[in-house]
Amino acid sequence: MSADRTVPTWLVRGARPLGGDPTDLLLRDGVVAEVGAGLTAAGAEVMDADGLVALPGLVDLHTHLREPGREDAETVESGTLAAALGGFTAVHAMANTDPVADTAGVVEQVWRLGREAGHCDVRPVGAVTVGLAGGRLAELGAMADSAARVRVFSDDGHCVSDAVLMRRALEYVKAFGGVVAQHAQEPRLTEDAQMNEGELAGRLGLSGWPGVAEEAVVARDVLLASHVGSRLHVCHVSTRGSVEILRLAKARGLPVTAEVTPHHLLLTQDLAATYDPVYKVNPPLRSAEDVRALREGLADGTIDAVATDHAPHPAEDKECEWAAAAFGMLGLETALSVVQHTMVDTGLLDWAGVADRMSVRPARIGRVADAAEPHGRPLAAGEPANLVLLDPGTRRTIDPTDLASLSRNTPYAGTTLPGQVVATFLRGRPTVLKGAPA
Ligand SMILES: [Zn+2]
Repeated sequence: MSADRTVPTWLVRGARPLGGDPTDLLLRDGVVAEVGAGLTAAGAEVMDADGLVALPGLVDLHTHLREPGREDAETVESGTLAAALGGFTAVHAMANTDPVADTAGVVEQVWRLGREAGHCDVRPVGAVTVGLAGGRLAELGAMADSAARVRVFSDDGHCVSDAVLMRRALEYVKAFGGVVAQHAQEPRLTEDAQMNEGELAGRLGLSGWPGVAEEAVVARDVLLASHVGSRLHVCHVSTRGSVEILRLAKARGLPVTAEVTPHHLLLTQDLAATYDPVYKVNPPLRSAEDVRALREGLADGTIDAVATDHAPHPAEDKECEWAAAAFGMLGLETALSVVQHTMVDTGLLDWAGVADRMSVRPARIGRVADAAEPHGRPLAAGEPANLVLLDPGTRRTIDPTDLASLSRNTPYAGTTLPGQVVATFLRGRPTVLKGAPA
């Protein structure tokens, strides 16, 4: 008999795991019970997945859920529903909330809200420094030991620019196999910066944000991680120079990983010419040459993962003049489509590659591949039934009012993108069916 009677058995017929040959998947008791052609199961719910690609449930290393503190922009409930609709079964919730997630109490609150919502697993990211202020280390050990079992630490939104603090954080997380995720932005080089530095910024009268402000921190942190023998993860890489530094680091076998956002794989600085703050983001949109290098870096594995940097903002913080607007854009519900468009439809990655960069590797980096409830596992018998089924053959035009997010700041409004998530399963239970909340 079923160990958990609340999870019905599902027979998914004719899905294509990693884009391969069609097969059936039997999901029972929260795990993939069987994979093979012509499966039967009495009493099972049947889903016709003819032509759909099956991938392990996506894992986001970089989500801003805004709760506690900015529930007008997003909540754990709305953000994780957006995640499920985007095919995610786990998200890492960034620490720049109000209060900041810099204590065991706050990370446990976020973790509990995630469990209550039930749309996907929420893994809180702990702040590196108290209040993200860059002054002294937060209680990293207490957050690691908490019920939330924090393993990723980041001051994201801010750079840990002090080399001594960064070194101490890297040393500290070694004790429990944690990782420091750096938002690489040299603060003095980016004072008042508004968009990518260059001729266009000059013409638009917006202060420039040089690529070297990112690259200088990436290079320093690679050297620090090497010196300390600890794990560094670089958030939202945006320049060709950063990709080159990471390529050198990996050639030396250093324990460094990196992510790129969907928007940096697709959009360029040219959009700033509209002066529409929906395109204002940190780090800024870069040149077409940078976009090419980011795609190549993701394709050859120099960049390990796609991470959304989903950053909801209410209208009053985005619908104003460029210089006054907040940085950030939505990402969860469009990430897979943008990756299909930029990486799969261009021939740079196959679906197995997408599974690797959006599930397997981010799960390992975020330490959820070997957790009590693991993610990023193969679609094989005995593995947890965390999966997404998508229709790569459909196209959809993005309407911001259709999104589950409480905010509307998507840069893709009115844009037609390929692919649609049809269903998402979290431990055998559907969170999304027929493209809608289950
Ligand atoms: Zn950031």
